[in-house]
Amino acid sequence: MKLICGVDLGGTKLSAALFDQMGVLIGKEITHDHVNETTDGIIRVISELVQNLLKNNNVLLPDIVGIGVGLAGHILYRKGIIITTSNFKVTFTNYPFVEKMKTYFPGVKILLDNDANVQALGESMYGAGKGFESMVFMTISTGVGAGIVLNGKLLRGKNGTAGEIGHSIIEYKSKYMCTCGNYGCAMAHSSGLFLPELYRYKLESGMTSSIGLNLDNISSFDGHFLKKGVNEGDNISISIMNESADIIGTSVFNIHKILDPDAVVLGGGLLQLGDKYMSRIKNQFSFLMQDMMESEMEIKLSEIGADAGLLGAASLLLE
Ligand SMILES: [Zn+2]
Repeated sequence: MKLICGVDLGGTKLSAALFDQMGVLIGKEITHDHVNETTDGIIRVISELVQNLLKNNNVLLPDIVGIGVGLAGHILYRKGIIITTSNFKVTFTNYPFVEKMKTYFPGVKILLDNDANVQALGESMYGAGKGFESMVFMTISTGVGAGIVLNGKLLRGKNGTAGEIGHSIIEYKSKYMCTCGNYGCAMAHSSGLFLPELYRYKLESGMTSSIGLNLDNISSFDGHFLKKGVNEGDNISISIMNESADIIGTSVFNIHKILDPDAVVLGGGLLQLGDKYMSRIKNQFSFLMQDMMESEMEIKLSEIGADAGLLGAASLLLE
């Protein structure tokens, strides 16, 4: 049976891997050589990486179904175009990604989608979403994103932006401004990118912190600092974790209200906060459900782990 090839294109890390169709990893290559490249240069680095991956595993192009690529950005899936990105030194704008890739791999099937969508698909085929007719994968990391899988297929919407739960507005009178320019988006209240801002709001509201950060150096307040702060019993860190969990729990409730899926699977860096975080998300969901407990929607942790982006991208080929 042919292999599937996945590419995970991040701002600092680019990786490519081969899997069999059961999701078993055959080989993997990682590079950082793309970081300072132009957009066309990045395509060249990807193609070199994939060629090396094939060569090092004695695999020929006819032995693969195709190449699936996942990246953080706004994607026109059907046209293979990147509308825009924000995680790279260069910005891809209306960039014909698939067409450019095909100049290196003529005749090869190449598919492109955003990172949350590919992870959702991977999770539904090989991870915590396996066996469910309908599931939503939600990632809480630098930003917040989601992918919706119904009967084995991603729900992409008219423009391919379905599942952008991070930019759904959860507090319409909020003073928290999001990267999109609106106020009160779920991600502005809960994600890694906004941790320094959240910390600043807490300091300004008069809360004190025991982890030694002040208004001058709060930019270093990241997920690791948050976890350390929570473990050390720091007031601000605990308050930020709780607020994030309550926002995510409320978002999960909103997903339930709109889609009523079989399961919501949660993944992404902030889940490293552990059981305190996850159980608070579940508690917030139950609190909002009140006596509507006839719902048996499951809230589960992602199961794929470190290669989620790669396996997800590869699974696009089997959708
Ligand atoms: Zn937003």
